[in-house]
Amino acid sequence: MRPSNERVYWKTSEETLPRPELEALQLARLKQTAARVYERVPLYRQKFEQAKVKPNDILSLADLRRLPFTTGADLRESYPTGMLAVPLDETLRLHTSSGTTGKPKALFFSAKDVDNAAELIARSFVATGMNRGDIFQNMMTYGLFTGALVAHYGAEKIGCLVIPAGPGNSERQLLLMQDFRSTSIHLTPSFALYFADVLEKRGINPRKDLSLKRAFVGAEPYTEETRRKIEQGLGVRVFNSYGLSEMNGPGVAFECQAQNGMHLWEDYFLMEIINPETGEVLPVGEPGELVLTTLLREAMPILRYRTRDITAIREEPCSCGRTHRRIERITGRADDMLIVRGVNIYPQQIERVLMSIPKLGRNYLIQLDGLDEMTVKVELSEAGFDGELEHVVALQKEIASLLKAEILTTPRIDLVPPGTLPISEGKAKRVIDNRKL
Ligand code: ADP
Ligand code: ZN
Repeated sequence: MRPSNERVYWKTSEETLPRPELEALQLARLKQTAARVYERVPLYRQKFEQAKVKPNDILSLADLRRLPFTTGADLRESYPTGMLAVPLDETLRLHTSSGTTGKPKALFFSAKDVDNAAELIARSFVATGMNRGDIFQNMMTYGLFTGALVAHYGAEKIGCLVIPAGPGNSERQLLLMQDFRSTSIHLTPSFALYFADVLEKRGINPRKDLSLKRAFVGAEPYTEETRRKIEQGLGVRVFNSYGLSEMNGPGVAFECQAQNGMHLWEDYFLMEIINPETGEVLPVGEPGELVLTTLLREAMPILRYRTRDITAIREEPCSCGRTHRRIERITGRADDMLIVRGVNIYPQQIERVLMSIPKLGRNYLIQLDGLDEMTVKVELSEAGFDGELEHVVALQKEIASLLKAEILTTPRIDLVPPGTLPISEGKAKRVIDNRKL
């Protein structure tokens, strides 16, 4: 039964703003942001001077291209407080990036920034059908990482009961889920796959024994095949959730019920896609590196941030009525690319193949040794494989040839029993590179 207070939109007018009005709003906010950083952040003053541009030169959204990029290195070098645009005593919260790549970056939020971040998550969750009355079990890491806290406040804003479970401890997660009938969970794809294994081992049928309806899955790249595995294993609809600490954390772009790309909240962020090598802005629809500009940030506005994430913009209207354009599933980070025997390979290409083979389980690892020797270690599925040597060899051959077709190189395939590869509660480490190149 539908609760009577069910909302389709969180703030209808903001989400369905006609494009011309949305773009006018973006331009006004861009001008304010540029003026703010030019006045208050020495790094930007310097970058503007180098690019021979002043905030007043911004006359249209196309002038965004005249502004300088910001990189992860800029953020690290200005650690801890070099990019603040307000006095420290006007900040309310500090997050750092989880440091998957390199030194941490310090991200400050003003009171308004904290509220805006929660607004965007509330908007995102409602777009998936979550509403007051839903019970939200937050299985992301609490702490310096933005993932859990930002989502937590957004769900509270909607009026959901929030269970701040954090990651790990599957037995306790399950107990909470059963006792409080959680309907919505938020977790990484790797932990979701692991948790699906736990349910299977315990003989729990999620569709019968649990109340789960949806999972918000993000914080690391995953494929459509992985989405389907999680949906099957947890008995949920999986909604793709994209964000990064530099841009508040989660709630930058999110799938709606149409599940056809993620709406990027354009009243808050400007997006561009560039060629990661040349920095050239690419036409809409072409894949490249996502570049984001904050439009409402007070404490730490960031212009043209090079996310390193590879995606493409979709501009066809969405059936949900939201006017904010969408981005495609992130296919990986520019930095994730492996070069093996001269071929460029993204780990997601390997994942896509592995997750589409029913006899395989849910955990895998890519190992590189010596001079470009690649080994793919993958767990077998709990059911459906007898371990007969003949069958093992046949399966290895099948996987190797499917992978060859995808990545143009033939890795060694190591099939291992279910539950034997290392698991991760947060972001998974899928690639171990022991090469001495
Ligand atoms: P870091 O991992 O760099 O320390 P964050 O914890 O802020 O920083 O992680 C943000 C990064 O996580 C994004 O830049 C992106 O690479 C990845 N990410 C987040 N959500 C998704 C998603 N839904 N799909 C793919 N990648 C994602
Ligand atoms: Zn939509």
